[in-house]
Amino acid sequence: MLTIKCAACKRKLWKYEKIGQGKVLRCYKDRIARFYDGQIEDGQAMCACGKRIGVDEGDHIKMIASAFTYSGTKRNG
Ligand SMILES: [Zn+2]
Repeated sequence: MLTIKCAACKRKLWKYEKIGQGKVLRCYKDRIARFYDGQIEDGQAMCACGKRIGVDEGDHIKMIASAFTYSGTKRNG
């Protein structure tokens, strides 16, 4: 499980089950285990600080690489 964090303010955004060892380019909503200070509004994934983290594309969030960091482990697919 990965903890996705805002690159600007370091708040925890959400917990994500990443399958495979590749880059985190998208977060599929059905693999988001819980939300912390991240939220989806008006088609954007936002941090509570106002930083845009990604774009809501329906079943997933297309992540902005420079906007977040993460820690934790990816699950081998
Ligand atoms: Zn933030």
